[in-house]
Amino acid sequence: MTPEINWDVASVQTPAFVVEEHLLRKNLARLQHVKQATGCKILLAQKAFSMFYFYPLLAEYLDGTTASGIYEARLGFEEFGGETHVFSPAYRPEEFTEVLPLCDHVVFNSLSQWHYYKKEAMASGKSLGLRINPECSTQEGHAIYDPCAPGSRLGILAHELTAEDLVGIDGLHFHTLCEQNADDLVTTLQAVEAKFGHYLSQMKWLNFGGGHHITREDYDVATLIQTIQRIQDTYQVTVYLEPGEAVALNAGYLVAQVLDITQNHGVTNAILDTSATCHMPDVLEMPYRPFVINSGQANEKAYTYRFGGPTCLAGDVIGEYSFDEPLTIGSKVIFCDMAIYSMVKTNTFNGMPLAKMMAVDTENNLTLVREFGYAAFKERLS
Ligand SMILES: *Cc1c(COP(=O)(O)O)cnc(C)c1O
Repeated sequence: MTPEINWDVASVQTPAFVVEEHLLRKNLARLQHVKQATGCKILLAQKAFSMFYFYPLLAEYLDGTTASGIYEARLGFEEFGGETHVFSPAYRPEEFTEVLPLCDHVVFNSLSQWHYYKKEAMASGKSLGLRINPECSTQEGHAIYDPCAPGSRLGILAHELTAEDLVGIDGLHFHTLCEQNADDLVTTLQAVEAKFGHYLSQMKWLNFGGGHHITREDYDVATLIQTIQRIQDTYQVTVYLEPGEAVALNAGYLVAQVLDITQNHGVTNAILDTSATCHMPDVLEMPYRPFVINSGQANEKAYTYRFGGPTCLAGDVIGEYSFDEPLTIGSKVIFCDMAIYSMVKTNTFNGMPLAKMMAVDTENNLTLVREFGYAAFKERLS
């Protein structure tokens, strides 16, 4: 399933993220369908995608944003509108006072945080919630994305929570999934209901967090809709979803260029102007191998290259790819699914320039949204 590129790749000055409006709209239409079928609310988790150039478009479909702290909350408030939610593992006192007026929902990660800020929070009249930890791990493989692992710092355990703690609380929030399907949500809700079910009828809302891969082709939307409806009907709560990835899944690319081709012990290295560690750190952190347009696995096609970045880090390697035609210096390489967890994680390690940000409209016109220079590197260093 190779995506079709209908914009002028040759005109793109690399490295550049290119995000397509029609691909975002395709995802958003699917999310809107879930909202319309259930009456649930869906927020953008900005942690995954914060290219606010597109916030007005996203706001046509979604109810608002969720934030992990003051800066994301402010960005959502300023650029997106709608509802602004915030959750943080721990708020700093100055941050809390600043974030409170911007937000509609404020979620606490622990009973100690809740009791510490209770007076100030309740005086604000905002809708307050607690993050719960259902202790139900449904994912293998990516331990750093499992908030249910024993010893986790995320969320309140069922045995800690008393009815008294819930005075002043409107809703409960859980976030335990990562790139998962609706079957794992069903499993998670069984644990949530078994452990926290006796509190749910007194809540106004239940937030299912993110990690729902709703816009992936094989995602079971029917089960998601049934599940939301069942929870809303059983407990009379409004269900919130806050996907990050699903909003911009497969909606953007990172365009790179070959700077040099070298040989070492039978490996042909293609050095790109794009770095794994600086421009797509999840390739090393998650880790995973991004798909490249027109490529195959190593040795599947005639010409195989190991793609690496221009930093000094020996491990700045993206992966091995093969092509029908040889690459040459100046060849463009297009990495897929680069809108999510990419722009939000870029850095200027090794003095790397940040990638440009471009948008493609529905007529396939390219617009340069933002470019970065030396100042973006220097500003953070003293
Ligand atoms: C990361 C995160 C999300 C979004 O997760 P995705 O996997 O990008 O859908 C939502 N809510 C919370 C609390 C998060 O930490």
